[in-house]
Amino acid sequence: MTKKQPINSSKMLPVELDEGKNLSINPTKEFIVAESNQCVSCGLCLPHCPTYRLLKSEADSPRGRIALMQGVMRDKIPLNARFVMHMDRCLSCRACEAACPNHVAFGNLMDSTRAVIAQQSDDALQIKETGSMFMLKQWLITHPVRIERLRRLFYWLQRIGFLKWLGKSELLKKNAIWNLVVQLPVVEFPVSKMTENSYKVGDRWLEVYPARGQERGAVGLFLGCIARLTDVTTLNASIFILNQLGYVVHVPSRQTCCGAIHQHAGDRDCAMALARQNRSVFAELGVEVVLSAASGCGVQLVEENNADCYRVMDISQFLLTAQGWEDIELKSLEKKVLIHDPCSLRHVLNGHGFVYELMAHIPGIQIIPLPDNDQCCGAAGMYFINQPEIAQQLLDAKISAVQEKRGAYLLTSNIGCAMHLATGLRNRGIDLEVLHPVTLLARQMGLEL
Ligand code: SF4
Ligand code: SF4
Repeated sequence: MTKKQPINSSKMLPVELDEGKNLSINPTKEFIVAESNQCVSCGLCLPHCPTYRLLKSEADSPRGRIALMQGVMRDKIPLNARFVMHMDRCLSCRACEAACPNHVAFGNLMDSTRAVIAQQSDDALQIKETGSMFMLKQWLITHPVRIERLRRLFYWLQRIGFLKWLGKSELLKKNAIWNLVVQLPVVEFPVSKMTENSYKVGDRWLEVYPARGQERGAVGLFLGCIARLTDVTTLNASIFILNQLGYVVHVPSRQTCCGAIHQHAGDRDCAMALARQNRSVFAELGVEVVLSAASGCGVQLVEENNADCYRVMDISQFLLTAQGWEDIELKSLEKKVLIHDPCSLRHVLNGHGFVYELMAHIPGIQIIPLPDNDQCCGAAGMYFINQPEIAQQLLDAKISAVQEKRGAYLLTSNIGCAMHLATGLRNRGIDLEVLHPVTLLARQMGLEL
């Protein structure tokens, strides 16, 4: 075991969004015209846009999409199926927003435009949604407790190999929910009791996990929705590390989905209702910080957080600035570790640097950023289901980069990216573990995960 170097909190960079930007989406033609007027058509965003790079079409570039939005909202061109297609092809990765010298709020524009499309009475123009996708969004994701109830069922279906066997069915492969189910990582259970370097599990998370040793503060932990089934290891690792550092971790059972999937699909009302519930639940805790271990959810929580009483942070940023490291020892890891930057962490939260800084504290580690890390992997919420061809091309490029760099692990801070990348690796026959950075950190702290 090697004594860990103290983490230097003075290096902390705050996660800040452009001050003065109206972050609330506004599905009115006036707002979309006014915001799109900020675009001066310079084209500096084009080389950063994954769909423009792939499709080589102006209509699938940020500048082209903004021009189309302007045309439609000014009633100069019709809101037709072709317009919807170019909007649907956008990943909402916001690489264009990060590159724009004029600070055009592209994510906001796109969500507002999708909400306008969703309001259309003409069924032919609306986002096509299969029955199973509707069920996934409205019945399951908005009620994460139902996801928790399915955990034991999926656990046993995985254990007896039933899901793998069903996964071979060509008929089921066309089903949106089924596509998610076959990608499920091994189902794990929430921690119910922590010991020094192991834990016991139960069917649900506890409301509060007490700090070990000297208490240094209290935080809230956001669970997400699908992550309760797919990313339990990351959430358990987060609780372990925070407790070891001396932080009480509150995991309120009334928290719900962040609403990002609904917002990107144009369902603003549902996204706002979910945000309101999360705000009220976390505000009641009296904690100053709420942590997210999935950067896709983190963006939504940050942008929807108008509560003055707490701040939302990505777990890596918090850990980098947390106290208590002087009492922690990290095992050495003499291996090459690849890091994929999720778009949400890199382009919106500007927080990808925290991951590299945090991982650099593991003695012996060799950190390799994936080439083209500013490009989306194609997961993008439900994009990999709705636009499978583009998503697959983006994924292929990532897997080729992984093959070229040859690491012992692939780290990413967003569960959507992790599942998508793991599927790509599996399909190419590459045996490489995809982990959240905190899971690797917890292992190096001695937790048996
Ligand atoms: S959000 Fe991403 S895919 Fe959409 S226009 Fe911007 S860079 Fe392109
Ligand atoms: S960089 Fe900004 S201003 Fe320039 S074309 Fe892109 S969105 Fe418009």
